[in-house]
Amino acid sequence: MSSLASSGQQQGCALGREHPPVPWPQALARAVRRPEVLCEALGLSVEQMPQGLAPPGKFSLFVPWEYVRRMQPGRWNDPLLVQVWPAAAEAQSPPGFVPDPVGDLASVQAPGLLHKYRGRALMILSPRCAVHCRYCFRRVFPYEQMPRSLGEFEPALAHLAKDPQVEEVIWSGGDPLVRPDEFLAQMVRRLEQIPHLRRLRIHTRVPVVIPQRVCSEMLTWMQSTRLKLIVVLHVNHPQELDESLALACRRLRSTGALLFNQAVLLRGVNDRLEVLEQLCLGLVDQGVVPYYLHQLDRVEGAAHFEVPVEQGRWLIRQLRARLPGYAVPRYVQEQPGQEFKLPLDEVL
Ligand SMILES: *Cc1c(COP(=O)(O)O)cnc(C)c1O
Ligand code: SF4
Repeated sequence: MSSLASSGQQQGCALGREHPPVPWPQALARAVRRPEVLCEALGLSVEQMPQGLAPPGKFSLFVPWEYVRRMQPGRWNDPLLVQVWPAAAEAQSPPGFVPDPVGDLASVQAPGLLHKYRGRALMILSPRCAVHCRYCFRRVFPYEQMPRSLGEFEPALAHLAKDPQVEEVIWSGGDPLVRPDEFLAQMVRRLEQIPHLRRLRIHTRVPVVIPQRVCSEMLTWMQSTRLKLIVVLHVNHPQELDESLALACRRLRSTGALLFNQAVLLRGVNDRLEVLEQLCLGLVDQGVVPYYLHQLDRVEGAAHFEVPVEQGRWLIRQLRARLPGYAVPRYVQEQPGQEFKLPLDEVL
């Protein structure tokens, strides 16, 4: 694979125009894991990357070709590349950047179940993701201790069944949509048997990085559940919005699901007004409501992505002055021990 174009031919074109996309498990299996391969595809060289390269560690480079193809060749500061490139700065950990910045480990109620906020509980359905986002607060989460099989989730299901206040289950991870549809369909059926559950929310970046994951098998279980379905995508930059993602959104909407987006405010990626404006309006064009803009969680290794809260507030204020109200996300920060994600933009 010497160039982006030839790798596109070998892998099948993700955009679904010239070639049908490869089945999603293959897309995962073929994802780029080596910095040299990524650089070569983009016409860059590892040695000349100004941000350097972190020593190999547990959270290594991992990015599907479907996402790589949306990067601009020859641009070391491409906003999509920056999100997945293990920069040398990851080795620095300034004070205040910790392994579990949001206190998740304190809210584990049963294996794989986090119950932090009233009425909604979060299931860690998968230890894996379809992409490794360098700023992720889960980069150091102890996933090995999480359940895998349906049987191992029984204590979590029992906890949900005995608490009538819980009306909404959130599937998260890792990314829940890297699990096979057979497993997900079985899990939905188990949840439907719990009478007080009304909603199923899925937090996922998979339709963004491997859009063909939104396949007919997935639509089948989504269409047939009695639970109100809510899908929260994770798009950070307008360059991530392409035809293949638009198709995935149309398919998701066809199930009757509500579609939202959460983004993380990231230095060098989306910390400019024009970028955020295009992102929000581009999402609305796809029937996706911008829900949250997250202040970065202060996780070890991600300090170089932090944007000052004052700048975030300024950006949101400018967005409010330009966009319809529904297109402006809530600017929030998760803080341990709070009853909700704290709004940062209420006093402007
Ligand atoms: C973010 C989160 C939720 C959902 O919060 P909303 O404000 O409803 O989006 C639920 N549980 C946990 C553990 C969370 O981190
Ligand atoms: S949990 Fe989401 S943000 Fe974190 S690495 Fe996985 S896909 Fe990326």
